[in-house]
Amino acid sequence: MREIDLHVHTTASDGTDAPAEVVRRAAMLGLRAVAITDHDNVGGYAGAFSAAHDCGMEVVPGIEVSTKYGVAVHILGYYVENLVPLLADIVNDRDRRNEKVAALMASDGLPVSYGMMKKRFGDVIGRPHFGELLIEFGLARDMDDAFARFVGKGMKYYVPRTIIDLDSSVEAIVASGAVPVLAHPFQYKKNDSELRELIERCMDHGLRGLECRYSGYSPEQSAYLECLAEEYGLLKTGGSDYHGSHKPHIALGSGIDGNLEVPYEWLERLKEAAGQ
Ligand code: AMP
Ligand code: ZN
Ligand code: FE
Ligand code: FE
Repeated sequence: MREIDLHVHTTASDGTDAPAEVVRRAAMLGLRAVAITDHDNVGGYAGAFSAAHDCGMEVVPGIEVSTKYGVAVHILGYYVENLVPLLADIVNDRDRRNEKVAALMASDGLPVSYGMMKKRFGDVIGRPHFGELLIEFGLARDMDDAFARFVGKGMKYYVPRTIIDLDSSVEAIVASGAVPVLAHPFQYKKNDSELRELIERCMDHGLRGLECRYSGYSPEQSAYLECLAEEYGLLKTGGSDYHGSHKPHIALGSGIDGNLEVPYEWLERLKEAAGQ
């Protein structure tokens, strides 16, 4: 029985389902709880909570912050109360980056303006939105192709963001009242000792949990992460990283080909840690 999904994106960042739709979909799937973890943004909470009220779903107000530590490391925060100063910096920087990308595309004669994109996609725009336009223009076959040839690192329409460093991100999440968790630990291509170094460094700044189950992670990979969490006394979390049709192979609650199953008990421990 699939119970919860603690890693979900909505239209408040670069997912394609509105927050209320995510909650209704989770209810239809029989999930008990879903965490809204949009990138650098908490704009999805209101819609999610009002839908949750209607369909008896438990919603966890979360966030996923992109940080820099050699590679891009993502930190999830659960039960965010107030993240305003950090968020303002991140949103401004994303805006600057996006304006440059839109200008690059416009200078190639594509009918793109950032103002138009904001009207269409909302306040938080990410590379998948540029990808969507490239698909519409017939320049990319699908999202993977758009990343591989246009908006992925080093490609024609790639402009880096100045993302905040790892230490201050973890601290800012703690300061926001939230519980910080290291997202998708295998995405950073680190070996065991490097991953431990990353975890220990995050813990020095207040890390409380490890995302042990994730779309595409094998049972062996998850077991390894669960052992690490136990060894370090960290909470275990898990989630799909659902993005709607921007990542069509990932299903809400059940990940890739049904590989994901996250027990409600993990959320109980998380709530205790958050003082909920
Ligand atoms: P940004 O934060 O705007 O730089 O965009 C990063 C977003 O693009 C994250 O949600 C990534 O998961 C997403 N992303 C990266 N590669 C791909 C891909 N090949 N297909 C779809 N989304 C991707
Ligand atoms: Zn995303
Ligand atoms: Fe992530
Ligand atoms: Fe994510």
